[in-house]
Amino acid sequence: MNTASPIPAAPAGAKDIPSLDRLLRSPEFEPLLRAWGHTQLSQISRICLQELRETALNGQLLHASLTSAALAHTVQTRLAARNAPRLRPVYNLTGTVLHTNLGRALLPDESVHAVLRALTSPANLEFDLDTGGRGDRDDLIEPLLCELTGAEAATVVNNNAAAVLLMLNTLSDQRESIVSRGELVEIGGAFRIPDIMKRAGARLIEIGTTNRTHAADYENAIGPDTAMLLKVHCSNYAVKGFTKSIDIGQVAQIAHARGLPACVDLGSGTLVDLAQWGLPPEPTVRDTIAAGADIVTFSGDKLLGGPQAGLIVGRAELIRKIKKNPLKRALRVGKLTLAALEPVLALYRDPEHLPERLTTLRLFTRPASAMQKQATRLTPVLQAWVGTDFVVETAALFSQIGSGAMPEDVLPSCGLRIRHLGPGRPGRHLAHLETRLRSLPQPVIGRIAEDALWLDLRCLEENQEPAFATQLNADRT
Ligand SMILES: *Cc1c(COP(=O)(O)O)cnc(C)c1O
Repeated sequence: MNTASPIPAAPAGAKDIPSLDRLLRSPEFEPLLRAWGHTQLSQISRICLQELRETALNGQLLHASLTSAALAHTVQTRLAARNAPRLRPVYNLTGTVLHTNLGRALLPDESVHAVLRALTSPANLEFDLDTGGRGDRDDLIEPLLCELTGAEAATVVNNNAAAVLLMLNTLSDQRESIVSRGELVEIGGAFRIPDIMKRAGARLIEIGTTNRTHAADYENAIGPDTAMLLKVHCSNYAVKGFTKSIDIGQVAQIAHARGLPACVDLGSGTLVDLAQWGLPPEPTVRDTIAAGADIVTFSGDKLLGGPQAGLIVGRAELIRKIKKNPLKRALRVGKLTLAALEPVLALYRDPEHLPERLTTLRLFTRPASAMQKQATRLTPVLQAWVGTDFVVETAALFSQIGSGAMPEDVLPSCGLRIRHLGPGRPGRHLAHLETRLRSLPQPVIGRIAEDALWLDLRCLEENQEPAFATQLNADRT
């Protein structure tokens, strides 16, 4: 048999490229027209044809790429990529459970159903079903928040940064707020207490030093223009060694003796004692109120495990003022937030079931042995995917709560460590691998450290494991 290679065909020229009109009338384009509509289809087809003309000018156009079927495939691929959602699910294997850049808390099914209902049906968002008159959207969650925190009243805004801004602007506009120098925190992403105070119109009076603040510092700073004493949770750092700070109980006593409110930005703000599940202890909102705080602000999507929101609870008279501030209207939450928040709060009425039902708490309390078993199952899957240039091993590691909550405390976990074999520095190879993981249909986000790529399995629950493995098996080269 003659095995001589075929003579290469001459490249196609611009004249071989079909017209847009002919293409759109071809039977191969009929399903595309139905799926995407005429406007998008002709727009993208025109772009593809123009690109083919440029390829033809370079003498690199193949006849095979000009059939209606080939062109339909090209255009379909382009349209699908263009219409793919930009906000996509990823696998968070970073080891940080509440990862701000990956969307913080994951919500339970109850919230998902409630959001779906709120999206697709009219609802009594600001409608009083008893009187038929106008209602207040805060009424939907205020009783529940009061029940769970022991506060007299509550309101909700877009996030905790907004809650702090609104609280300060309402209670301390053009007046002084006293804060310890040890608590002038910066949360990642441009939230700094001194800056937000300035924007709120509050005058910051710094007291004490970075490491030590005494009761007398608060007492001596109070003057005729003082509006409040403010405490801020040191969310993402710890001051250690020769330190002193005044707890909220004492600060409240000092404030109340002078007829002033004591306010607290609690940051994460948990509603239950996390120590009962072996997690690092955090002051609860209830304890903070019970200790004498007049206003407490905290996030909805950190330890609480709900949607992005800023919760403000405290004395009825102060909450009333806060709700009357015109800024409240600008910072209010939408119905989707309220729909998602209510079922999360309701879960706290049944603390015994919380570790199974509240997604974030379930992730925090997963035992290392669960991730260990997963690591054993997934090691061969990952090894096949990375190829022989790398070695995949199970590794004990530590997860973090994240979002500034308990920055020093870590949760024993297990995962996979991927190292490059062979000479030279591994950095470039690991970066390449990390990019490959990020380019998967559902991107996998890990972490490079100590010359290895680490995948912490804490946030890959057992029910997601088959899809995770399937994706890798399908991508094997
Ligand atoms: C996280 C945090 C904030 C900001 O809360 P967001 O809900 O992210 O707006 C403010 N103060 C403290 C102490 C925090 O930890």
